[in-house]
Amino acid sequence: MVGRLVFVLTFAINAQEARVCLVDEVHSEKAQNRDKATVASIFRGIGVEVRWEECAISEFEIRVKASAPAVAREDVLATTRLAPREVSVYADRVRALLVKSHPAVQNIAFAYVIAHELGHAIQGVARHSDEGIMKPRWNADDFSAMLFHQLRFAEPDAAMIRQRLAVQYVASTGR
Ligand SMILES: [Zn+2]
Repeated sequence: MVGRLVFVLTFAINAQEARVCLVDEVHSEKAQNRDKATVASIFRGIGVEVRWEECAISEFEIRVKASAPAVAREDVLATTRLAPREVSVYADRVRALLVKSHPAVQNIAFAYVIAHELGHAIQGVARHSDEGIMKPRWNADDFSAMLFHQLRFAEPDAAMIRQRLAVQYVASTGR
């Protein structure tokens, strides 16, 4: 296990910002840098700028954990609690899925799991889509798309994320 590294995702949209802490207890700094770049690129694709800074105050936290709790169903890769907002991503589960079925995407899929969970956290409702990053389960085509940076948020998800980020900013400043 590497040292605990903490990063803040600052979403900027229309010059408004929402902050998310990403605490990765598992991966190397190199792997985290790669994931951060991929996550930023995914969100840039829907018009949301992501900046990474040192973690201070955040509106919610994503924690990458080494292993899932024993009570978690076998196919669960991550969990998102909406109130309070808290996201856990289980590295052992993601690794097991990828090694078994899609070894070629091992280095990139983790960022998509983070993006998917961020999608839940930002949208603030429990829902999935038929297309794109917010599908409940990715298939072989989706994993292939990741390899070529072609897997994206479907437009309804992108629109909802943009809308929620703006709403969240207004709420957090009390205006
Ligand atoms: Zn989900």
